[in-house]
Amino acid sequence: MSTGALSIDLDALAANWRALDAMTACETGAVVKANGYGLGAGRVARRLAKEGARRFFVAQAEEGAALRKALGATVEIFVFSGHMDGDTKLIDEARLVPMLNSIEQLARHFEALPDHPFGIQLDTGMNRLGMEWADWSEAAPIALERNPAWLMSHLACADEADHPMNGYQLDIFRQMTDGLGVPRSFSATGGLLLGSDYHFELTRPGIGLYGGHPYSEARPVVRLDLPVVQCRDLAPGEVVGYGNSWQAERPSRIATVSGGYADGLLRSLSGKAPLWHDEQACPAVGRVSMDLITVDITDLGEDPPYLTILGPHQGVDRLAECAGTIGYEILTSLGDRYLRLASGS
Ligand SMILES: *Cc1c(COP(=O)(O)O)cnc(C)c1O
Repeated sequence: MSTGALSIDLDALAANWRALDAMTACETGAVVKANGYGLGAGRVARRLAKEGARRFFVAQAEEGAALRKALGATVEIFVFSGHMDGDTKLIDEARLVPMLNSIEQLARHFEALPDHPFGIQLDTGMNRLGMEWADWSEAAPIALERNPAWLMSHLACADEADHPMNGYQLDIFRQMTDGLGVPRSFSATGGLLLGSDYHFELTRPGIGLYGGHPYSEARPVVRLDLPVVQCRDLAPGEVVGYGNSWQAERPSRIATVSGGYADGLLRSLSGKAPLWHDEQACPAVGRVSMDLITVDITDLGEDPPYLTILGPHQGVDRLAECAGTIGYEILTSLGDRYLRLASGS
């Protein structure tokens, strides 16, 4: 079998959620959008629900409806994109809580589902989603009369603890929401780590649960082993892969592993990220192709059955750095072809 093996450590995921929960005095939710950051939303959410998580966040109503099927009736599921045209049936039937982002969404929601719970997303300077001051001052009297379940906003620079934007957004959020008596959620992983001023009633970590920056204490959750399909000897001067981008300078042994950019192993990793055999790093050479990566195993002295591209020596952030991206993109790009093996209960 040439399928790569993606191991998902659910015990590590649960430990990360518990550790983040222990850093606050408030409730801790869980963000499982984009199929649980690529690891399987149902699987991830079920484990976190078992751990005690009761509030889950997704980006789109369709994700929420699928999650409702996986989790059953007892948890609350929030939708960041709010109530879009065409979402009413899903929101109603799956009992999703839309985070309304605009006066238009507010009107749509009150008209279509007048008695259905909702939250409100406020923009505090990121200029991505949510109502700005002017909208909010207009909408607040009407919205508050209908008892929003939550008020939320999102930080733009929380992964940089010293960034002045953090305090600025906190100040705006307080001005927009203090004294309204509605529970509030402000922080994802980064904000949670900024301390208690940022916690309010509910945090909503995503990346930290999955072992990524900025939660540097996180336990790694994923491991990815790629089977070696073939090994060959090269004489000095021979070349490897598309575009002949690598040339052997010494007698070399090259392993070809199964996994490529179609599996989320970005082409920008070409020649950048090593693959690992236990403790030993083996440089990737030549270009990453759609289904294959070529690796220089000359110094290994043996032909391994597989090589590890995500593991104890190279986590999602390290691999992301090699590719010039962030851990979020590595995780959410992980392809469908891998055999996903969940461990832990
Ligand atoms: C994705 C997202 C989160 C989770 O962010 P992490 O950085 O992964 O913890 C929280 N809130 C909103 C609005 C998001 O879009």
